[in-house]
Amino acid sequence: MKAYLDGQFLPLSEARISPLDRGFLYADGVYEVIPVYSRFPFRIDEHLRRFQDSFDGIRLANPHTNDEWRAIILRLIAESGFDDQQVYIQVTRGADIKRDQCFPKSVPPTVFLFSAPLTGPSAVQREAGVAVITAPDMRWSRCDLKTVSLLPNILTRQLSADVGCTETIMLRDGLLTEGSATNIFMVKDGVIVTPPKDHRILPGITYDVVLELAARHKAPHEIRPVTEAELRSADELWMTSSTKEVLAIATLDGQPVGKGALAGKPGPVTRQLHAWFCTYKEEVMRHGDA
Ligand code: PLP
Repeated sequence: MKAYLDGQFLPLSEARISPLDRGFLYADGVYEVIPVYSRFPFRIDEHLRRFQDSFDGIRLANPHTNDEWRAIILRLIAESGFDDQQVYIQVTRGADIKRDQCFPKSVPPTVFLFSAPLTGPSAVQREAGVAVITAPDMRWSRCDLKTVSLLPNILTRQLSADVGCTETIMLRDGLLTEGSATNIFMVKDGVIVTPPKDHRILPGITYDVVLELAARHKAPHEIRPVTEAELRSADELWMTSSTKEVLAIATLDGQPVGKGALAGKPGPVTRQLHAWFCTYKEEVMRHGDA
């Protein structure tokens, strides 16, 4: 696999950083993941905008202009041997000669990218939906920043992995926040509902696409807090992310989502949203971002 490290393109297996890198010592850095379809980076401007918000949020100077980022990303995509990719970008506060929590002075950031094949959900998962569990949200109060400090997410995600489930949905103060690496949407009585973009969730790029598609197609939707009780009595649930796109949730803590004949199966609104998402993706690949 191909990588980029501090100005050089190289095979990923040859990339090396210092053990004093603050990303390694403190998880002091930010990241992005950009999906690439047929070598076309999806919503790159939006990803770079969110990246800038993450830089600002941790008081780290962005080492590149958007044009420079675009050039690096496009070259990495061109040099990678697959059409559908996920480009991972990470910038840390660099490697000082000592270990000290305070920001180092005159230390260049470490800039690292690599591209891997984009592997979405399997055909079976798409068709049947997936199982998820819930857990308390134990993260900090700036979940809107995409930082590499992911230990709470990792521990939370592992709870679902341990029981063979695909995602862990987090609850804080009786309210739905998000999945360990996804945003969550529910449908109740035909209305799509998702929590607002505040400090408690990551402002997902796919979350925005889904809400834009709902607005474009005049599908009723509301952005408001979702209680645990509402989550558990939802007619439909799905998760969104750059790698999962729109993925139906079939069971929540072992209980089928929804009622009647469709209980435990992807519902009509979920299927519709996924279909709109796929059409939109094709459109973007043909004509560029709308
Ligand atoms: N929420 C969290 C905590 C995430 O880590 C991610 C993606 O990695 C998302 C939501 C979904 O964001 P996006 O749609 O931009 O991939």
